[in-house]
Amino acid sequence: MSTERLTVVVAAFNEADSLPLLHPRIVAALDALSGIDGRVLYVDDGSRDATWAVMQSLADDPRVSLLRLSRNFGKEAALTAGLDLVDEGAALILDADGQDPPELIGAFVERWRDGYDDVYGTRIEREGEGWLKRATAHAFYRVIGRLSETPIPADTGDFRLLSSRALAALRQLRERHRFMKGLFGWVGFNRSGIEYHRGSRAAGDSKFNFWRLWNFALEGITSFSTAPLRLATYLGLLTACVAFAFGAWVIVKALVWGDPVAGYPTMMSVILFLGGVQLIALGLIGEYLGRLYEESKQRPLYLIDEWRPARGVCSDAVP
Ligand code: UDP
Ligand code: MG
Repeated sequence: MSTERLTVVVAAFNEADSLPLLHPRIVAALDALSGIDGRVLYVDDGSRDATWAVMQSLADDPRVSLLRLSRNFGKEAALTAGLDLVDEGAALILDADGQDPPELIGAFVERWRDGYDDVYGTRIEREGEGWLKRATAHAFYRVIGRLSETPIPADTGDFRLLSSRALAALRQLRERHRFMKGLFGWVGFNRSGIEYHRGSRAAGDSKFNFWRLWNFALEGITSFSTAPLRLATYLGLLTACVAFAFGAWVIVKALVWGDPVAGYPTMMSVILFLGGVQLIALGLIGEYLGRLYEESKQRPLYLIDEWRPARGVCSDAVP
């Protein structure tokens, strides 16, 4: 029986408390697989606590590789960095806080063996998250599902297994504004979902507050849809029609009844309304322009501070 490699990629930012709880669960799950060369790759996304020291202690295990970025680049960039370094076999993405249960790795691998390239976890329940976060997340997936032309499964995070050809495809997408859920969807291939219960964090706090989530949602919508621009066009058209009708009425009124000094309130409200609509449309264009600007700089997506390949891998890789 040939062995295939599976690398579990974990991006961590200030997760010194969670990693020691997570690692044994991953190892147990990998040990339970037969015919699989299981590896773990931890990415330290510029943590400011003891995360890197904790990772180094975990690297006594010859299957563990470590990657440290030069600063905090955000989860999406950290995952990209990790996935870029998986040069053989499939990769499975896991959150460091234990919210994505490593015990499901076996089920993911089974689907992968059935020939699926992108096996994703769909949450049927979220524990330990307030109703507001749940409600906004729910709304977000519905809106993006409507707006985007690429299929983005609802309630699906980054917990997924990608085959080597899906990874190779993903590696070709080098855009700076990385909305990973959308990128996975864009890649396509055979996809299959696994439902799971999302528990609460094992330790530490969520790194995504509402402001970050709001920006993340904007990121998702502007990266995968130009619908807001079209909306601005329609809004402009509608305003123009109303303005023409109103203008015609003002002229007719003046011709028929004469026009003693025109109404100040009407004028003010028309000016303010038109000004508002114009600013909204400008803002929308600005959103896209800003993204265009970021892309045009062509900066690398992340910088590596330190890369420690697993000892098991390193021995034959070093010249
Ligand atoms: N994370 C990261 N870089 C960041 C923020 C978060 O690598 O800048 C990691 C974090 O360590 C965790 C995962 O992304 O492994 C998910 O973060 P979190 O649990 O805070 O998000 P939530 O589950 O609340 O959406
Ligand atoms: Mg979490």
